[in-house]
Amino acid sequence: MSVSGLLLFCFAGLIAAHELRAESTVAERDSRSAPTESSVTFSSVHVNGPYIAITFDDGPSATLTPKLLDLLAAHHIKTTFFVIGENVAEHPDIVARAAREGHEIGNHSWSHPNFAKMSEEGVRSQLRRTDDVIKSATGLRPTLLRPPYGSITAREKRWIHDEFGYQIILWDVDPYDWKRPGPAVVRNRILKETQPGSIVLSHDIHPGTIEAMPSTFDALEAKGFKFVTVSELIRMAIPQASHAPQTGGSAAPNSPSSTPIQRPSPPGG
Ligand SMILES: [Zn+2]
Repeated sequence: MSVSGLLLFCFAGLIAAHELRAESTVAERDSRSAPTESSVTFSSVHVNGPYIAITFDDGPSATLTPKLLDLLAAHHIKTTFFVIGENVAEHPDIVARAAREGHEIGNHSWSHPNFAKMSEEGVRSQLRRTDDVIKSATGLRPTLLRPPYGSITAREKRWIHDEFGYQIILWDVDPYDWKRPGPAVVRNRILKETQPGSIVLSHDIHPGTIEAMPSTFDALEAKGFKFVTVSELIRMAIPQASHAPQTGGSAAPNSPSSTPIQRPSPPGG
């Protein structure tokens, strides 16, 4: 190797070492700032296989949720509903049906406020009332929380997990269906972004979302994806080797990688 080649080699090595160090520092800082952070908050899950979790927020809706439940039953798909407490109080029968048919019910607050801007007492009341109304409708207490808009402070995550035992569920696929872009756009965004381990955000209070689902489910099934609830997906989690090369052997048939891309979750939820 020439001198200049050697220098180049050393320089590249230095950069690589620096990057590795920077990454591990970030990882260490994350795990230090909240000892249970990685086991409490999920926007996707590292899994071995083509498993995904579709989630529906803000319901139940008197007309749309039963329609969606019919569709899910026809496809034998289990999903997760993050329900609004005041809607559950109005339609407990719909939530009871969802639970009876194998879907998971998670807490999405009583009236959809922004937790990050609220007092601890205010958040506690939102969670408690919703927890209670879900328990009375389904017989089970929820174990998952999706904060409205995905907005929650690190401090709130910790005390909520300690007090309620909730895992905090965000998402890595957002079709922005709440902007009502039309069923085709909702479907195409979901198809483009979903990969093994994805948690897909959508809302069962918008007609276009429900309209998008038959072809979305068909297309996801055709790609080989399998639908599970969020808790099932989390139970399938396997350790993620942070710097190991990609093996690529565990991905869904049409997916380039089995490693979920960790993206910040934009406001939606
Ligand atoms: Zn919401």
